[in-house]
Amino acid sequence: MQLNLARKWRSKQFNEVIGQELAVRLIKNSLYRSIFFPVYLFAGMRGCGKTTTARLFATAINCEQLPAFQENPQQIALPCLVCLSCKAMQMLQHPDFIEIDAASHTGVDNVRALIDTASFVPALGRKKIYLIDEAHMLSKAAFNALLKILEEPPASVIFMLATTDFYKILDTVRSRCFQLFFSPLSAQEVMKHLAFVCTQEAIPYEPEALALIAYETEGSARDALNMLEKVRLTQSKITKAAVISTLGFIDDERLVSLFKAIVEHNCATVVTLCATYNLKQFNAQLILKKCIELIRTSIWLKSAVPTHAFKPLQSTIRDITHSCQLDYLVALLELCYSHELTFLKTTTPDIMLEMLFLKMCSRMPTSAPLSIIDKQQPSTVSAGASVHTYSSSPATSATDAVALVATDAVALVATDKPVKWSEFIQQLSSLDEPLLASIFQQSHFIRFDQIAVCIEIAFAKNALFYKEWLDSAQTTWKPVLDKLFGEKVQLSIQLQNRQELPAESVSTQADKFAPIKIPKITTSAAVSLQQAPKNNSAYKSSGQSYYKAVQKEVVLVVADSQAWPQASLLISVFPGTITHRVPTAVQHSTQEN
Ligand SMILES: [Zn+2]
Repeated sequence: MQLNLARKWRSKQFNEVIGQELAVRLIKNSLYRSIFFPVYLFAGMRGCGKTTTARLFATAINCEQLPAFQENPQQIALPCLVCLSCKAMQMLQHPDFIEIDAASHTGVDNVRALIDTASFVPALGRKKIYLIDEAHMLSKAAFNALLKILEEPPASVIFMLATTDFYKILDTVRSRCFQLFFSPLSAQEVMKHLAFVCTQEAIPYEPEALALIAYETEGSARDALNMLEKVRLTQSKITKAAVISTLGFIDDERLVSLFKAIVEHNCATVVTLCATYNLKQFNAQLILKKCIELIRTSIWLKSAVPTHAFKPLQSTIRDITHSCQLDYLVALLELCYSHELTFLKTTTPDIMLEMLFLKMCSRMPTSAPLSIIDKQQPSTVSAGASVHTYSSSPATSATDAVALVATDAVALVATDKPVKWSEFIQQLSSLDEPLLASIFQQSHFIRFDQIAVCIEIAFAKNALFYKEWLDSAQTTWKPVLDKLFGEKVQLSIQLQNRQELPAESVSTQADKFAPIKIPKITTSAAVSLQQAPKNNSAYKSSGQSYYKAVQKEVVLVVADSQAWPQASLLISVFPGTITHRVPTAVQHSTQEN
């Protein structure tokens, strides 16, 4: 049977362990002095060598060459790999070595069964060794059962716990362990190891390709070898291009061009580039990751902090972001992060990605150069319209608006909006109304009819909840809208199939735009909101009760199945944190006037 590379090139002796000098030195000293602790905890990220080192340690403890090593530690390599005990370990048949994967044996019964066997003396070696991998996955009951034996372990037993999540191990267990920490491997260490394996396996390679693999796998030798193997199965030579195409990366140059179009708010170029690149062929999550890295790099460069990332393109990145404010780049970064989870839920990640790029493109954080829009959008306002207080702001024709392809879960995004509309959304955000701002951002801006003093926006039909939400939260957004567009302004919200767009066909049918009625504000059964403070100046009194989502918080009663579609929509649009609440808090905040 042919082993995969990661298994084949797993360290078999201590001198083969990559990095981790301190942990290895501690273990070798322990072996040299024959001082063994009853419980060891191996902690570190995945693929950095903890489980392998724990197995090596176990093999060495029972190796027949241990006394020889203690006599002459410079000459004798441990484990010897030839004695009966070492051979039994290699064949995974050692009677005194029991390895369990806590991820699949989380229950207390598994731990009890293990404890029952611990009282037997070792059959072949010096010690009976239990290796519990992914120890943080054990249930609390299992931990408590384990604790009993950890408190007074039989002299012939050694426990080794390995975990990627040190802080999930109970404190009481942790404090009984001899703790060994494994740091992530450096890119150089991983690269050196990859080069070694390639040479041994006679795999031709380009050093840049190995550097890319090492960089992308973030210090995990196992992941790096698996990635190398994947590329090797498709290409005879490991080249940078092969790595990029096999793993679905996008190359830096293309990403930077896209970033340039985004920063210049050039939606048309973004759409064109997305189409040219054929995003489907890439791994969307990797692109998002790379995009985050690019924005982060631009922030570092702007702050004059040296970085190795995007090295050959750094001056281009500097030029691109020259006129951007730091806040704007941070806002882009936030936007990317807020979409990390949505990528896991969609079946069309390429469209999702396109939508995200366009969102980044049209987003106008306070620091963004808004003047660009003023220049690009000629005013279509008739002279008669100048009587309105907002006439100084150019209204925009919606004819150029790009109707975007969107999945059902994703609302429609418009690109050409009057500056005041963007300001409106910004002001909602600064009022600590991230949900409202986000909902408005999902809307498709159709037009601002200055004669009827009506702003027309649309949502996709499946986003009925947005409309309902806006209806019920009018007292929050209307004063802000009034302030910007004048008190007579009406907001017309339509629900459309996305096929009904582009916007120009809609905007000619004026009769379709009945301004929405302003209903009495009530909290709906499914959504409970907290009362806003009465002295909040953002709300103009009109004799009604004011409701405002608690800062960055919306409470949904999930027990009510009618609230589920809303919850699902919220999860896809809400930029804040979604937390689970105990029911008492919900009751407390429900106040119906
Ligand atoms: Zn041996």
